[in-house]
Amino acid sequence: ANRHVGEIRTPSTALGGVTVRVPAKVNLQLAVGPLREDGYHDLVNVFHAVSLFDEVTATEPADPGAGPITVKVLGESADEVPLGEDNLAVRAAKALAAAAGRTYRADLLIRKTIPVAGGMAGGSADAAGALVACNELWGLGLPREDLMEIAADLGSDVPFALLGGTAIGTGRGERLTPLETSGTFHWVFALAEGGLSTPRVYGECDRLRAAAEAGVPEPAASEPLLAALRTGDAEALGRALANDLQPAALSLRPDLARTLDAGRALGALGAIVSGSGPTCAFLARSGEHAAELATRLADSGVCRSAVTAVGPVEGAALVP
Ligand code: ATP
Repeated sequence: ANRHVGEIRTPSTALGGVTVRVPAKVNLQLAVGPLREDGYHDLVNVFHAVSLFDEVTATEPADPGAGPITVKVLGESADEVPLGEDNLAVRAAKALAAAAGRTYRADLLIRKTIPVAGGMAGGSADAAGALVACNELWGLGLPREDLMEIAADLGSDVPFALLGGTAIGTGRGERLTPLETSGTFHWVFALAEGGLSTPRVYGECDRLRAAAEAGVPEPAASEPLLAALRTGDAEALGRALANDLQPAALSLRPDLARTLDAGRALGALGAIVSGSGPTCAFLARSGEHAAELATRLADSGVCRSAVTAVGPVEGAALVP
């Protein structure tokens, strides 16, 4: 239910290309510490990869006269994705070529399913996908550790898109440790009209906190959340979901409160804004419950559309 249907697909192998599938993420816990002198915040970030995938295909360039790295985007809100140097997949391919020490060429095709500017790290997913696809296309054979280092320079969410599963990030998000989890969790994502800019949401978070004049504690991992993940206890996980950016996202998009309330009223075990929003994430009791929740959320008019997904899933992986 979470894939676009009716799209005509040319097998990438027939074109001599390499296709990589990369998951979206939801933050199960996003604890934002006080604003630091350097303008950043210390974070504790529990990332969870879910089965909403973008696909990145890298092929030998069709037009030798074009730039070294070209990009085309199809699918979910494709027209909102920049096509030049600002595209994170293009930046990733260039960073990989630079790390390998010479000029390489590739045409990138991104099939988007992850909502753009939706708080699910779609751009970071595409960057991770481009790293894995170009590493293969160019026959570089760089190990995952090297790709992780290049990924970390591209953005704080890119290493997790490579890693997948469930992981905890600390510091500015640069230290990433995989977490043991049990079982599969069933999710519904309510996609919203339009996007939210991540820097703007952090700015609003700082503004709300300054206005409240209350101290902001150092971020710490939630023990109940980690225990729920270890034991696969969906009810406990639902109760423990926490996002410090949620008040800021709701302040910028007050309509999202209705979306969250609707999911809670339909029996979601937990309801949170995903990352910086505006996508809302709901934890369901089962696959059936998720399907029902998605249908009823979409029908109730509190979101643009609703999709189901499971987590955790693996990170960026070659499609055979
Ligand atoms: P995060 O959760 O990491 O804050 P997000 O999911 O809210 O990110 P993205 O979809 O990653 O947001 O994109 C944020 C912005 O990055 C977009 O508005 C777009 O202009 C730009 N961008 C650059 N490259 C891409 C890409 N390949 N896909 C989507 N957006 C991209």
